[in-house]
Amino acid sequence: MIPFQEAKSIIQKHIPQLEETLVSLNKSDNRILAQDIKAPFPMPQFDNSAMDGFAVRCQDTESATDSHPVTLKMIGVSSAGSPCDLTLEPGECVQCMTGAEIPKGANAIVIVEDTSGFSNGDSVQVYQKAYEGKHIRKQAEEIQKNDKLIAKGTRITPSEIGTMATFGYGKARVSKKPRIAIFGTGNELVEPGKKLRQGQIFNSNLYVFTELTEKAGAKIIMREVIKDDKESLRSFLSAALETSDMVISSGGVSMGRFDYVRDVFKGLGVQEHFWKVAQKPGRPLFFGTANSTLIFGLPGNPVSSYIGFMEWVWPVLESMMGKPEATALTGTLVEKFPREKIKYRFLFGKAWMEDGKLVCKPSAKMGSHMLSSSLQANCILGSEMGDSALEAGEEISVNMLPWKTIL
Ligand code: AMP
Ligand code: MG
Repeated sequence: MIPFQEAKSIIQKHIPQLEETLVSLNKSDNRILAQDIKAPFPMPQFDNSAMDGFAVRCQDTESATDSHPVTLKMIGVSSAGSPCDLTLEPGECVQCMTGAEIPKGANAIVIVEDTSGFSNGDSVQVYQKAYEGKHIRKQAEEIQKNDKLIAKGTRITPSEIGTMATFGYGKARVSKKPRIAIFGTGNELVEPGKKLRQGQIFNSNLYVFTELTEKAGAKIIMREVIKDDKESLRSFLSAALETSDMVISSGGVSMGRFDYVRDVFKGLGVQEHFWKVAQKPGRPLFFGTANSTLIFGLPGNPVSSYIGFMEWVWPVLESMMGKPEATALTGTLVEKFPREKIKYRFLFGKAWMEDGKLVCKPSAKMGSHMLSSSLQANCILGSEMGDSALEAGEEISVNMLPWKTIL
């Protein structure tokens, strides 16, 4: 059994970087950016109107009130999408729509509601004094040319897609998706939807793995439930090692008589880096490599599998795609957390805000076979080893499940 941090640093030494690929913007959601996105032009690109109204010289409107409007000469229209080559002289104005270029000489917009309105006439009455710069979006007030907008390694969401579109990027350079082979082992496993016989259970782990893999931004290329039988394991695994960037298994990696996964991995030339980690749940955690393929053997208990994926596999998938590891939050416990004497301890938990502070508590169900402990959870709580439980009021590391919110 090796210490938790040592296992982490061993893995770090073996993470390959995946190649890059170009994808169209609408196919880029949840991918990891492989380039910095810079602004090819300033934003706004030119001074333009924030409102529908009249471009004026504010000096001309000083005395304007509802009862004594100022009358300005209207010399034209500036509309969004057409360049404006008009220049205001004293006493003149231009009808100027939202997003339209501000004519030269103008220094404010009076909104149409504060005037006698748009018309085809040659003058307009202004009822409100305008202030310099009012309702004008200044060139480069938001972003300068060449500003870094989005850093390489960012996970793409609608905000990044919108920003890239704003700056004219039709495609995004992203990391290729890691190709993942997953398998579950156990003679007892039956697919959901089928009939269970005495002693059998439904396979849930591969359903969890599939969702987590896709949420992480990787893709499943092989998926199979395999009997506790060396030959079947060998044939799946030798194909998986050929074609995938990572193999993830659930079950069959502990001390049981029929736990053949580790032997088969080794028999196929997988180099074992460690097999047991000082953690609960999920002590029998296998990590190995075969060329550039990474192999994680997670124990079969559903909570060990799920937490094992989130704590060990997820950060590695992100790192392969070039995303820096997220730092965990720290929360204050409102209930006891059962620490372990010689093991790192994880539990599903719930985190929320109270009096401006992040507080949290572990799930009430603590068994590693109790997958329902994940239902109310929005995070995984993790504590270093210690002689006694952490008490309410003490701090603990909070690893948010990325698709959940702080309740
Ligand atoms: P193992 O790691 O193979 O000893 O399995 C530990 C426990 O997890 C046993 O109770 C298994 O029945 C259960 N288990 C193994 N694989 C799965 C799976 N794919 N889905 C749900 N439970 C599983
Ligand atoms: Mg088993």
